[in-house]
Amino acid sequence: MEQLETRACLFAHPAKHSLSPAMHNAALGFLGIAARYEARDVPPESLAAEFKALRNSSLWGVNLSIPHKEAALELVDGMGVEARAMGAINTVLNQNGSLHGLNTDAPGFMAALLEAGCNPSGLVVMVLGAGGAARGVCWALQQAGAEVHLWNRSPARARQLCDGFGLNFVSDFDLETHVRASSLLVNTTSVGLGNPLESPLSDGILPNSGWVCDIVYRPLETKLLKDARARGLTGIDGLGMLVHQGALALKAWTGRDAPVKVMRQAALTQLKT
Ligand code: NAP
Repeated sequence: MEQLETRACLFAHPAKHSLSPAMHNAALGFLGIAARYEARDVPPESLAAEFKALRNSSLWGVNLSIPHKEAALELVDGMGVEARAMGAINTVLNQNGSLHGLNTDAPGFMAALLEAGCNPSGLVVMVLGAGGAARGVCWALQQAGAEVHLWNRSPARARQLCDGFGLNFVSDFDLETHVRASSLLVNTTSVGLGNPLESPLSDGILPNSGWVCDIVYRPLETKLLKDARARGLTGIDGLGMLVHQGALALKAWTGRDAPVKVMRQAALTQLKT
């Protein structure tokens, strides 16, 4: 059997349970591109050395996941104005040793919303969380013309994001009111990840109507989504964003339109293992 050369990687810590290798390798196979994608566990203290090695490698580039999306800003040679405004990158293009940062989380998130029939233009949106993923999500929502309200467990981090982006800060005290009044709630915290019994919101607190999107995709049906659907709200799971951000990264590396359906099926199959 032909030994495929690794041409793209995920840098994450931990990296073991990532769906990206299954998703990208299925796409590369479908497109007939003789290359493979692999996940590498890169702890924060090794990130700079990995970026240095990337410059001299034959890799097209890398994806970045927790905890590298913000730290990597300092390690690339340039980035688009959008990625700079977001303050987080999840994709790097290696252009003959020069590293260019991109954020495909934001357009990936937007593609997933639209695919689910949710156009956020003009909506009042409540976002939970202020980490790396929240930056792309809030930026995309704002660009689409939504009114964005933001809550985070650590208020200082929420304040910083609100000040930087011009979002409305929501305190613990006001959270319930703002959640109920929103017509799209987006969870960008990691609460619920790997625990189907855990939700970022206390029982019974949900929007009165509209959509609830949870970008956590393991499990696919988080407690938040289950509660929302039981209340008659429309749930949007995290798989759409994952697949679309991956498809956009693959297109940036190869110039080819990525097979979104193939990638979704591969990710779903991997999730069930
Ligand atoms: P991150 O930068 O580490 O941020 C984590 C966020 O979760 C912070 O806002 C943090 O609040 C909050 N949090 C953690 N534990 C909490 C708790 N017990 N109670 C309340 N809030 C808590 O991570 P990230 O990159 O933003 O990723 C967040 C989640 O999104 C992860 O589950 C990741 O898998 C998912 N994600 C999905 C996609 C997708 O394509 N679907 C893409 C990116 C990320 P503090 O600031 O208070 O610590």
